[in-house]
Amino acid sequence: MVIEAATAYTTGLWRRHVHQYRPLHSAVPSVDVRFAGMEPVNGAHSNAKQHTITISQACAHKSWVIHEVAHLFTPGDHHGSAWRRCAMRMWEDEFGIPVERSRRQAAEHGIELSACPRILSPRPGWLPNCSHRFPNGEQE
Ligand SMILES: [Zn+2]
Repeated sequence: MVIEAATAYTTGLWRRHVHQYRPLHSAVPSVDVRFAGMEPVNGAHSNAKQHTITISQACAHKSWVIHEVAHLFTPGDHHGSAWRRCAMRMWEDEFGIPVERSRRQAAEHGIELSACPRILSPRPGWLPNCSHRFPNGEQE
């Protein structure tokens, strides 16, 4: 996904879902896709205050854009329950993955679920492969 496609997908995603959340900014966020070799970027990062998403070319796909937009929709929640609810709802709406299926697959990977069908209850370290590290040490 090149920057034009990432920007277009982010714009559509934002317009389809923003009415359900309380992001710090109402406008569509800016998206920057950085290419390997041009800049040592690995992963993705969103900044709710600056209203930006920065993503490496290797990670510039719809599922990761959803991940980062969910951070902008749930500022300050990190990978908490609000972020997870938001991500699961967008997976359902965008990819047709029912929330119950997301819950079941999470359980298959050892993620504890709450009694509420739309809320996950994480154990510490439940996202060991969720890396958004950048060389400057920023994380989200
Ligand atoms: Zn994240």
